Amino acid sequence: MNFVTYNYQGNEQIGICQTDQVVSLTELLNSPIDSMLDLISSFQPEWLNIMDERLKSGEYRTIPVSSVKLLAPIPYPRRNVFCLGKNYVEHAQEIKLTGITDTSIPQHPIYFTKVASPAIGQNDPILVSRQVTTQVDYEVELAIVIGRDGINIKPEEAEEYIFGYTIANDVSARNLQANHLQWFKGKSLNNFCPLGPVLVHKSAFPLPLHLEIQCRINGELRQNSNTKNMIFDIPHIISDLSKGMTLKAGDIICTGTPSGVGMGFEPPRYLADGDVMECYIEKIGKLTNQIIFME
Ligand code: MG
Repeated sequence: MNFVTYNYQGNEQIGICQTDQVVSLTELLNSPIDSMLDLISSFQPEWLNIMDERLKSGEYRTIPVSSVKLLAPIPYPRRNVFCLGKNYVEHAQEIKLTGITDTSIPQHPIYFTKVASPAIGQNDPILVSRQVTTQVDYEVELAIVIGRDGINIKPEEAEEYIFGYTIANDVSARNLQANHLQWFKGKSLNNFCPLGPVLVHKSAFPLPLHLEIQCRINGELRQNSNTKNMIFDIPHIISDLSKGMTLKAGDIICTGTPSGVGMGFEPPRYLADGDVMECYIEKIGKLTNQIIFME
């Protein structure tokens, strides 16, 4: 199931996206669901079968995707987005002399958080002030969405706590990351957390995940790897992060980016005005956003 949050005729709704059609979830389940966070926190596994049967029946209205505005699956996460730094070996090694971090391979996950208030959606522009930064970079990442609260989760039980997966672009201002000796500010500017376009339920592809992950800039392939190359895999991340700290339904964890980011080039290839980023993950889709610089 590919869940989406969308705006149709002025109303924000939750639905299922099938190829080029959207179906309202409220209509499919015959009960009002106000937001993706409501869906996640009240979700019952048997709903998958109910939704499947209703979809097979054909007794529902569809709306063409082209006539809705897709939003981030969770436009306003309740907490900051959790993120991992340096979770692919080749990315850890490409960060040379940037003043942000060294090139060592971490022994433990490196965590930081990112403000996403709101997270932006498919085709939303990333508006950036040149007065704040001109060193904006892209990072395609697999994002985990947590399905239920849990603390001290065992790696072998991690999948039970997952709701599903989406694509994140961990947009980053490299000068701010370096200046402030801490990544929070450079990762948290307005519009710096595109998510989507869909939230795929975990039943679509069980762990371990071996998914192609890519980012193209103006059509040029820059990042190209597979989620099997993570240094810390998904069960490890959920288990480690939840030690002594409750993960909550609806929390989002970005699992790190592969090599090929702009700061890995010599000289760096930061984003220019009008550049189009396409973040792709196999079986999830493609998240597209354009960067627009303002004075
Ligand atoms: Mg990142």
